[in-house]
Amino acid sequence: MTQEDLKNLPKIVEKFKKSNYPVALTGAGISAESGIPTFRGESGLWKNFRPEELATPEAFRVHPEIVREWYNWRREIISKAKPNPGHYALAELERYNPNFTIITQNVDGLHLRAGSKKVIELHGNIFREKCSRCNRIYNEPVYETLAYCDCGGLLRPDVVWFGEPVTSINEAINVALQCDFMFVIGTSGIVQPAASLPFYAKNNGAFIVEINLEPTPISDIAHVSLYGKSGEILPKIVNNLIKT
Ligand code: NAD
Ligand code: ZN
Repeated sequence: MTQEDLKNLPKIVEKFKKSNYPVALTGAGISAESGIPTFRGESGLWKNFRPEELATPEAFRVHPEIVREWYNWRREIISKAKPNPGHYALAELERYNPNFTIITQNVDGLHLRAGSKKVIELHGNIFREKCSRCNRIYNEPVYETLAYCDCGGLLRPDVVWFGEPVTSINEAINVALQCDFMFVIGTSGIVQPAASLPFYAKNNGAFIVEINLEPTPISDIAHVSLYGKSGEILPKIVNNLIKT
């Protein structure tokens, strides 16, 4: 965060205070400081597979054991991880304004564990299983390499894979169309349809604040972009909010 960015904090806080319906769209970056690898970059690789090669219905059809093994590895990392100061700062913002809503692309459940209540999990939750035949949901994860539903269908994690429809997208679009303030945090802004949500919000007049390590396609439409770690920037925003 630069000196210039620090000067922007009071303006962001002022806008947040005046907002009736503030929202945050979060991506893998907000959980990076909890030790959960993002999809982009070196840390996303597993046994030399890229996540885009594993998080697909095709991959599961051809190699269900490899896909489930990858998810079980990720589940182990996530179950050991704890929410970081970025997650806690967002939970604090909901206490300040109970309308504050999080739309997350993350499947790790860390916003809920940090105490946020209004959370739309766009891409599902990695700890649930879903039957690939009858769609029955199981709330407990099964760590076996291959696991089956009572109907005989193979179980898969209850997450949205590349190329699959996002069932909660209409709810998220409604939120984006109604909000008057949107944080866009730790998302590369290239995974659709989530990446369109800031554009809906902007077209509807919302004030857009981006927090990321580096510029993204969202930077073009953001009113303010703060470059740095969300676990460091968000607590500064909350401190400023509480003090003023
Ligand atoms: P992404 O991996 O494509 O991008 C992560 C973004 O976060 C990058 O732009 C990066 O610059 C930024 N970033 C990294 N560390 C940061 C930090 N400390 N502070 C602020 N920004 C930081 O993630 P995406 O945009 O969420 O999209 C990828 C898909 O991956 C989503 O569908 C999501 O479901 C899935 N995913 C989820 C998790 C999780 O649940 N924790 C982890 C990996 C991937
Ligand atoms: Zn079934």
